[in-house]
Amino acid sequence: MTRRLASRLGLVAPSSTVAVKAEADRLRREGVDVVDFGPGEPDLASPPEVKRAGIAAIEQDFTHYTPAAGIHELREALAEHYAERAGATLLPEEVAVGAGGKSVLFNLMLALVNPGDEVLLPAPYWVSFPEQIRLAGGTPVVVPMDPGEGFTLRAEPLEKAIGPATRAVIVNSPNNPSGAVLPRDEAERLVDLVVERDLWLISDDTYESFVYDEADKGSLLDYRDRLGERLVFVSAFSKTWAMTGWRIGYAIAAKPVIAALLKIQSHDTTQACSISQKAALAALTSAAVDAPRKTIETYRARRDSFVAGLNRVPGVRCELPRGAFYAFPDVSGLMRRRGLASSAELCAALIRDKAVATVPGEAFGVGSHVRFSYATADRTLEEGLARLSAFAGSE
Ligand code: PLP
Repeated sequence: MTRRLASRLGLVAPSSTVAVKAEADRLRREGVDVVDFGPGEPDLASPPEVKRAGIAAIEQDFTHYTPAAGIHELREALAEHYAERAGATLLPEEVAVGAGGKSVLFNLMLALVNPGDEVLLPAPYWVSFPEQIRLAGGTPVVVPMDPGEGFTLRAEPLEKAIGPATRAVIVNSPNNPSGAVLPRDEAERLVDLVVERDLWLISDDTYESFVYDEADKGSLLDYRDRLGERLVFVSAFSKTWAMTGWRIGYAIAAKPVIAALLKIQSHDTTQACSISQKAALAALTSAAVDAPRKTIETYRARRDSFVAGLNRVPGVRCELPRGAFYAFPDVSGLMRRRGLASSAELCAALIRDKAVATVPGEAFGVGSHVRFSYATADRTLEEGLARLSAFAGSE
């Protein structure tokens, strides 16, 4: 290409999870029987009430622009949905709806991060965070969590990483890819730290409904009173209601932050899809509201059997993830067995030799690990484990 492209492209790499999906799709088109552990989405259908609401929205010609912040009923329903956590004082005006959690997070970075600002990012991290921070002109400061304890999110390493340019901390609990959650005592510490150092605390709760133990349930939203306007909470309908394609995410934050987010969003997507907004409203206001409670039981059974299966593969060690729907095993033993230098090489060999699609740990800032999504059919999980064992040379 002879025409000059923008230099900011040099700041980012394409999304590796999107790249894995493209490669798996390409092989499938060639007729290869791919076992796909790549997708970051539930294998379930969106609830019937959600689908019907989408169809009704089209039939009722609800196909025009809406307010940038989303339709009032949806903001109101979200404020009510989170009232128990965030306090009954949560107002619809403190909620903004956008075109998926990713878009909301990106626009928030643009609204909160100045050039030169540092944003603390516990590793492993979701693939888009470093790139979104960089595109906003900021610097991601990666703070490794301890693999020995399943990457449990802890405040102390974050505190040590704070410097004069630190402006924000991102917490993603349950975590993609590790499934780690922020324990309550660590949340307390983190809240004190954020208040003391007067930072933004961006809490990405996209996987909030995928928490396997009652004791782990909780959110930074529970600390809204103490955090005040420092708290920026983001979540989405995507994973909770198997609605990834509808593209509905949202932020809960103080009014000035919501206004800042909407200022950017109004020049970007304008708003989330009108039809999808009606569908999302149905998720909260119909019997579909209970769907996540059933989903978690299915996923708990898959997690238990899949992680046990992974631990039987020579060279693979996996902690039991406490949330989300990913297993993130240490594969350094398997890399040594196969003479591979990185988890990227391991994933490339797995798809080439066994048609098994996974995401390399490098994409999440941890090169010794690989991400498997177990949000897929039991038969696929079994077949994938069999191929992985064969790859490891145990069969
Ligand atoms: N945050 C995390 C941690 C994610 O894993 C994802 C999607 O994979 C998102 C945000 C964005 O979700 P979406 O844009 O599909 O709502």
